[in-house]
Amino acid sequence: MKEYDVVVIGSGPGGYVAAIRAAQLGLSVACIEKEKAGGTCLNVGCIPSKALLQSTEIYASFLHEANNHGVTCDNLHADLDVMMKRKKAIVEGLVQGVEHALKNKHVNFIAGVANLVDPHTIEVVRGDEKEELKAKNIILATGSEPVSLPFLPFDEKRILSSTGALSLSEIPKKMIVIGAGVIGVELASVYSRLGTEVVIIEALDQICGGLDETISRAFFNILKKQNLTFHLGAKVLSGQANPDGVTLNVILKGMDEKESMQADVVLVAVGRRPFSEGLKNIGLDFTIRGFLPVNDRFQTKIPHIYAIGDLIEGPMLAHRASLEGVAVAEVIAQKQTSVNYLSIPNVIYTHPELASVGLTEAQAKAFNMELLIGTCSFKANPRARCMGETEGLVKVIADKKSGRLIGMHILGPSASEIIAEGVVAIQNNVTLESLVRTPHAHPTLSEAILEAAENALGKSIHL
Ligand code: FAD
Ligand code: AMP
Repeated sequence: MKEYDVVVIGSGPGGYVAAIRAAQLGLSVACIEKEKAGGTCLNVGCIPSKALLQSTEIYASFLHEANNHGVTCDNLHADLDVMMKRKKAIVEGLVQGVEHALKNKHVNFIAGVANLVDPHTIEVVRGDEKEELKAKNIILATGSEPVSLPFLPFDEKRILSSTGALSLSEIPKKMIVIGAGVIGVELASVYSRLGTEVVIIEALDQICGGLDETISRAFFNILKKQNLTFHLGAKVLSGQANPDGVTLNVILKGMDEKESMQADVVLVAVGRRPFSEGLKNIGLDFTIRGFLPVNDRFQTKIPHIYAIGDLIEGPMLAHRASLEGVAVAEVIAQKQTSVNYLSIPNVIYTHPELASVGLTEAQAKAFNMELLIGTCSFKANPRARCMGETEGLVKVIADKKSGRLIGMHILGPSASEIIAEGVVAIQNNVTLESLVRTPHAHPTLSEAILEAAENALGKSIHL
């Protein structure tokens, strides 16, 4: 039976990165995957969703923005089939890239379903075939899966998970999205841009919980103008699919009576839960919500079995999983390592985008910190004006005592890219003073960060 220093279960952004880093550090490594290399992120998550968001954003910008620039076009048409083929090609290319990277770095990539047999033995099942591997160390990176509602099981025709919604063959006339989290609002944007009437039902009183309040309010007001209907504080109680569509029974906020709602398709986007099939036979304990507890070295209660990514508590983000993948390999190779969770950015790829890093104002206040807070609207940013993208703002939050930046929240054009400045600043304990003395090219969107920092220090030039 083949024995490895490290066997990684799962090849998502956590698992494949852990496998490559462990191999770089001189360890013998196998990585087992039951589906395709790249995991949720590459196959049914980050990448296909961003491919469709890009295609539909181009369409929407021609539809609504181009004429402001003097560009008109007749017979504008969105071809969902072409968009889906383009998305598929992007995914396939990137999956191949991961497979090549694993091979080049001498990771033995094994197709099959992994089951833990005992703390050092993994069974791999491939159709009728079975093989067993031995491992000195095991990294569990099995990720997560969409949560369904008990009364609305996914059929991926009428009742969709995010996976089904990323592969529709027709643009639905009407879609109800249950859950206004990141996945819900991103996929709602894709289809509303294509002309689908989209209704979003959210149990809480806000969308994408956990955002900074100033930003959240502005974000909600912008999305409401985009042909999206929101019902906040509303709960779906029951529902059923029928040949013509889906009927839901919903209690709207402040109402006693149930309301019946109809749509062609329903996207259930009420969250994801850790995926742990095959990991339960060797006495590992899971939390009530299904996460696998680990210590700060990613060790489970069995010290040579580690876990990372969506399988453990924390923000379900690809880049977090990858950071943990690098760190866990370094732990196993006995190197100094750590992950700074305060500087992990969070992005929502709507239009405009919303990106944040560090603490919100409410979180900082809960630490009883005295704060310096500054904002800059993109209306005051010359580049945003030239682009015709003036919605949104930058908000910076610093600790008054040390002057250090502790939070940055950007709602606006290319927020996903310019947030990198805040990430580097927080990661390196940069002060607002240092930020305002850092040259920013003109005219750029990132000047809005500079101006928000000036605003926090009471020395705005333009505001
Ligand atoms: P996963 O990517 O889920 O990978 C786990 C892998 O393990 C899978 O390939 C699975 O097949 C395999 N596996 C599981 N069990 C076994 C077993 N027993 N044997 C063999 N293989 C097994 N995050 C972002 O940062 N940015 C985004 O823009 C973003 N967009 C998203 C959009 C959508 C629609 C979704 C669903 C998610 C999105 N995410 C995004 C979240 C991101 O995809 C996850 O946080 C990330 O993929 C988690 O990585 P992971 O390695 O922990 O697990
Ligand atoms: P996330 O976990 O960020 O993907 O977000 C999922 C969202 O779905 C959360 O904001 C939940 O409040 C919301 N949600 C969960 N169950 C329901 C339900 N039955 N009806 C409406 N919204 C729900």
